[in-house]
Amino acid sequence: MSLIVQKYGGTSVGTVERIQKVAERVAATRDAGHDVVVVVSAMGKSTDVLVDMAKEITDSPSPREMDMLLTTGEQVSIALLTMALQARGQEAVSMTGWQAGISTEAIHTKARIQHIDRTPIDKALSAGNVVIVAGFQGVAENGQITTLGRGGSDTTAVALAAALGADLCEIYTDVDGIYTADPRIAPAARKLARISYDEMLELATLGAGVLHPRAVECAKNYKVKLTVRSSFGHEEGTIVEEEADMEQGLVVSGIAHDKNIAKVTVAGLPAKVGTLSKLFNTLAAEHINVDIIIQSSYENETTDVSFSVSGEEVEKTRDVLEKQRDALSFSNIMTEEGLAKVSIVGAGMITNAGVAADMFSCLAEAGVRIKMVSTSEIKVSCVVPGDKVEIAVQSLHSAFGLDAKEKAVVHGV
Ligand code: ADP
Ligand code: ASP
Ligand code: MG
Repeated sequence: MSLIVQKYGGTSVGTVERIQKVAERVAATRDAGHDVVVVVSAMGKSTDVLVDMAKEITDSPSPREMDMLLTTGEQVSIALLTMALQARGQEAVSMTGWQAGISTEAIHTKARIQHIDRTPIDKALSAGNVVIVAGFQGVAENGQITTLGRGGSDTTAVALAAALGADLCEIYTDVDGIYTADPRIAPAARKLARISYDEMLELATLGAGVLHPRAVECAKNYKVKLTVRSSFGHEEGTIVEEEADMEQGLVVSGIAHDKNIAKVTVAGLPAKVGTLSKLFNTLAAEHINVDIIIQSSYENETTDVSFSVSGEEVEKTRDVLEKQRDALSFSNIMTEEGLAKVSIVGAGMITNAGVAADMFSCLAEAGVRIKMVSTSEIKVSCVVPGDKVEIAVQSLHSAFGLDAKEKAVVHGV
């Protein structure tokens, strides 16, 4: 008998009818003789609805209370799915993150999983149950309820698969696999049969929301066999694995985008040893993730530093820096919101010169202004105006030879 971990995302459990369909699929897996652990997200867009309600009350809700609020979404879907299974005559039990033994760091809104005590799940499985676990949540040592960051249910699933030594972790979603770009904005995107952990990690980190980056990291570290497939049909999905001969001969294997980027410029910083260290340690101490960094050249006593952050963190970044204005001694902060980041990814870039230049030419032809750039061995990212993200992704997809003939299968909410 093998153990399978299945994860169903928001759209897949978006209505009671959808939950019944999921129950059918879970029961079929169980009937085929497997032990099954299921991880579910909150129904449809209900996490967004909760976030919006919090925002109606305050601009800066307490992170602890945000976690308390958002974890309720998954609690609804685990209970309903469990009832749907029981109604079919399948024994099942639901568990919140803490009941399932998931311990995390004591950081609210983006905690990392530290340890999973498999005892509660093992006991429930031995008693003949399908175990339904709330995604995206855990408990810290201090007893606080935490969440893993938006999209974190994928990570719950992969971490459970690793901890339980599962034979397979299946991520069921509203697309039938991983594509060369987000099929919602690049209709010519092509489905990949396989992708390597490394390339998927790069795409996910750069914004390809189909998998949470830490889920891919965990799958890679623990060699979890991972597939992404549709909960709406029975098409073959995409296998994420160690080595994948995915796009041989192509320099660029995928395009990722992130629609919610802001640029922060800190002007008039002292041009001396230790300035950058002080600035970025101040941000790191508050868990603000900084991405692309540009330091303007300086001739006199001062220098300007620009960096990109997630659009969600721009207010917090400003507050944190303002509080340290005297210690950092800058003259002013400027922020630009509504930007997007478009990235091309491919292991083939290591051995190919001029890929960045090709990307810049393509964006220039499409009339897209580039505001910031960063490169690594296997990716080039450009920050561009938010309203140009679609044309940028589509043009790059075509320019780097990725376009497919058939349209992707995507399901709405
Ligand atoms: P779930 O609620 O199931 O976790 P998500 O919305 O988080 O679903 O992830 C699925 C979505 O990811 C797709 O609907 C698609 O728009 C988006 N996506 C972004 N990049 C890609 C990609 N490269 N391949 C497939 N889907 C992608
Ligand atoms: N419900 C959470 C979110 O919307 C977690 C998830 O779906 O993975 O971000
Ligand atoms: Mg998701």
